[in-house]
Amino acid sequence: MKKGKVYLIGAGPGDPELLTIKGKRCLEEADVVVGDYLADKRLLRFMNPEAEYIYVGKKAGNHTMKQHDISLLLAEKGKEGKVVARLKGGDPFVFGRGGEEIEVLKEAGVPFEEVPGVTSAIAAPAYAGIPVTHRKIAASFAVITGHEDPTKNESSIHWDKLAGGVDTLIFLMGVSNTAMIASQLIKYGRSKVTPAAFVRWGTRPYQETYTTTLENASEDVKKLGIKPPAVFIVGDVVNLRQDMRWFDNRPLFGKRIIVTRSRSQASRLVDVLNEKGAETIEIPTIAIKEPSDNYKGMDEALEHISTYDWLLFTSQNGVDYFFKRLYDKGMDTRALGHLKIGAIGPATARWLARHGIRADCVPEKYKAENLLAVMKPLLKGNEKILLARAKVARSVLPEGLRDLGCSVDVVEAYQTVSDEENKEKLIETLRNHDADMITFTSSSTVYNLMNQLDGKGELLKGVTLACIGPITADTCRKYNLEPSIISKVFTIDGLVHAIEEGVSQK
Ligand code: SAH
Repeated sequence: MKKGKVYLIGAGPGDPELLTIKGKRCLEEADVVVGDYLADKRLLRFMNPEAEYIYVGKKAGNHTMKQHDISLLLAEKGKEGKVVARLKGGDPFVFGRGGEEIEVLKEAGVPFEEVPGVTSAIAAPAYAGIPVTHRKIAASFAVITGHEDPTKNESSIHWDKLAGGVDTLIFLMGVSNTAMIASQLIKYGRSKVTPAAFVRWGTRPYQETYTTTLENASEDVKKLGIKPPAVFIVGDVVNLRQDMRWFDNRPLFGKRIIVTRSRSQASRLVDVLNEKGAETIEIPTIAIKEPSDNYKGMDEALEHISTYDWLLFTSQNGVDYFFKRLYDKGMDTRALGHLKIGAIGPATARWLARHGIRADCVPEKYKAENLLAVMKPLLKGNEKILLARAKVARSVLPEGLRDLGCSVDVVEAYQTVSDEENKEKLIETLRNHDADMITFTSSSTVYNLMNQLDGKGELLKGVTLACIGPITADTCRKYNLEPSIISKVFTIDGLVHAIEEGVSQK
């Protein structure tokens, strides 16, 4: 029988990229993933899709499962021979009760490993622009529980020593005890005007930071309604935030943006938006599939590829599906050696380069008319041209080429179909006003989104619409919707640039 093992994995404070490489590997290997309230859900994308997911999260005051039962569950799964990934927020050994789980595993004879994580104690301040140490300002820091029962007679926290003995004090689980923490520190000699800060949901797209002073902190918790989870930082390093802020002042920070592109295509847009600070909500309204004629047209063209003079691509999908079919038929790029190759824009050209092909013709800006214009001087007028593209597409390019005397075969490389899997999520997100903006990267994303809303735009009230170009914008107008952001450059980077401009103007 397979031998089970439990990995106690530090999931880090939230930003999925703060998971360690080892943590990711263990997560990928696991048969069972046991998740926590503070372990970011976005990490579950690294899970084996076949693996079982068990949520045992505890939210303050609302315990889903008792700690001892969680430990027993881990032991039980391990004994069944399963590889278990126990995902814990931050670092498992920093107020994470990792030690308690290990005691039970040890007792049960189940092998275990601990994979340290990035603790919120350091990372949340870091993402607020507050280094916990700094030459000349802070030579020491301490991480302290803020959850100690205030009615307890004997405190195990050495307030007298901490107050004056450590430069930076970082309290976890301390929000509801701020008054007690501040008064103890002041009582033992820490200056009332010591800078302090709360960082709530640190490293996440919805991080909140509040700066205050030791004497005003508990007042501010009430006044501003600061809620857990937050770290409370006390010390002069808090002042460094003014100059060292980098995360929550990015151009799209705090913006919640729906991405409607197909899942297979969304990643780049999502990455760029995230990098600029936005929180993205992926709700694909379309999906990309093999051609509706089951490659009939494409196969015929590939069999006669030697008779063509030109091969044109108008999308990355077209490139993907064309080459997939080429390779599936046992051919390779040598079959294309005699062809001139055109790409509708720089992104498609870059995609072609991944197959070792440098396009002969690339307009600076993505648009059928522009490709036609750059090809024109290179054509004699009797060329045979193959165009591999989506089932439904504009006719500008083939018609324009035919007008120049060329013969054009348009073959279907892929089709775009509607994806309704996330309809409920879409409606709920809009109803709860959980989105500030929707991006449309093609007319079909508009059509399919509107279909899911039964053609009605009421739910889109107050939501900014951002379109990749004028054609997509016109499609919005068919539904009486006026996009306020329309990219002039019809690429993902162009769209993101337009969004940034639109947001900064507001
Ligand atoms: N093991 C965790 C801490 C668990 S105790 C770690 O190393 O980070 C729970 C406390 O951690 C919360 O009450 C809060 O004070 C803090 N915390 C965890 N994640 C946080 C985050 N993303 N932002 C701010 N505080 C966080």
